[in-house]
Amino acid sequence: MTSPPVALVTGANRGLGSEVCRQLAARGLTVLLGSRDLEAGTVAAKRLGVRVQSLDVTDPAGIHHARDQIAEEYGRLDVLVNNAGIFGNAVDGDLDDIRATFAVNLFGAWQTTVAFEPLLRAGGHGRVVNVSSGVGSFGTPEGISNPRPVPPAYPVSKAALNALTVRLAVEWRHTGILVNAACPGFIATFPGAEKLGARPIPEGAASVVWAATLPDDGPSGGLFRDGQPLPW
Ligand code: NAP
Repeated sequence: MTSPPVALVTGANRGLGSEVCRQLAARGLTVLLGSRDLEAGTVAAKRLGVRVQSLDVTDPAGIHHARDQIAEEYGRLDVLVNNAGIFGNAVDGDLDDIRATFAVNLFGAWQTTVAFEPLLRAGGHGRVVNVSSGVGSFGTPEGISNPRPVPPAYPVSKAALNALTVRLAVEWRHTGILVNAACPGFIATFPGAEKLGARPIPEGAASVVWAATLPDDGPSGGLFRDGQPLPW
């Protein structure tokens, strides 16, 4: 590859995604900062010195338009970070809220990945990172069977995203594309989070960047935090 790898990060106008863009750009990648709000994305991209890409992961036509723009300009995509996510707050099992959460956290990542598959294949060394969470695991203390009351939509959507990660990794095992899920840990992306024990955003972003910059013989189909495997 002669030109720098091209990376697209969804939901990157703020929070973790924004910092992932900063770290990938610092490593020399060409970074496209995905944002559903073009104005907010443009401000963030200018601040970081990267490109903005208009992208709402719940809008199939918009995803295909973004894919066509990137195909025309770069001819490939080397790194796709499915970072866009929402927490949802359906403690009472409100199905509209549950569907809205899945629309971003699962189907958003799914349809974005499928749309970009040809471009990920084109470079021959594609990396897909699904930004997931230990709360979607069956094997972590904070995971699915955690007895504390939590709105169920978010952890269940992340468990489904984890399953999608495994499935895609299996299906694409001969393509050179590595597909992994990365948990940033509990990070300080909302006011007051530090007081609750959240760690700094750059640490969480580094956990994602690790999976986005794996060598060709790196793992595929795993869930990782800080480069270490987490149980499913
Ligand atoms: P955040 O600060 O709430 O940022 C979420 C980002 O996703 C925003 O840029 C938001 O855009 C974007 N987004 C939401 N819906 C979208 C859509 N339909 N299309 C495109 N972008 C959309 O969240 P965060 O804390 O940085 O979390 C980022 C990722 O890390 C999420 O997947 C989250 O589940 C995961 N995670 C976070 C933590 C944590 O402790 N924070 C822990 C584990 C995993 P707008 O600005 O337009 O709303």
